[in-house]
Amino acid sequence: MELDLREISRKENSEMPIDLSVDLSGEEIDGIFPLKKPVTLKGVIKNSADVLKLNAVLNAFYLKPCDRCFEETEQQITLNIKRVFVTQEENENDDYILVPLLKFNVDEFLRSEIILNLPTLHLCSPDCLGICSVCGKNLNKFKCDCPK
Ligand SMILES: [Zn+2]
Ligand SMILES: [Zn+2]
Repeated sequence: MELDLREISRKENSEMPIDLSVDLSGEEIDGIFPLKKPVTLKGVIKNSADVLKLNAVLNAFYLKPCDRCFEETEQQITLNIKRVFVTQEENENDDYILVPLLKFNVDEFLRSEIILNLPTLHLCSPDCLGICSVCGKNLNKFKCDCPK
């Protein structure tokens, strides 16, 4: 999905509400397709004094096996996004989105935001017991008598 920002960039002090639902289920990340549900982006793009700003909330569900017990686990990712659109590369900070032709590639942006903000651990629960390294049982569901 691509948003055309040319119109709003011409209208100083105007707003463009955004309420997007993007299907990224075909996006491969780390060898799997973890974004089975649509990723949403809700908020507004504002042109204030000729500066284009994005202020929105990204919501996604990331589905992959738990890092400890390997059960399929869905984690919700909610990100508050505040960015400025620029048409030329800037070095001062990275809080901008480069749109040389004022075309905002939403899919690419959402994908990279999600990857950058993935939690380091993907767990089915904070106290997941994982699997036994001896017998391979899921210790959340079974007890085993293996020596620890
Ligand atoms: Zn687990
Ligand atoms: Zn065991």
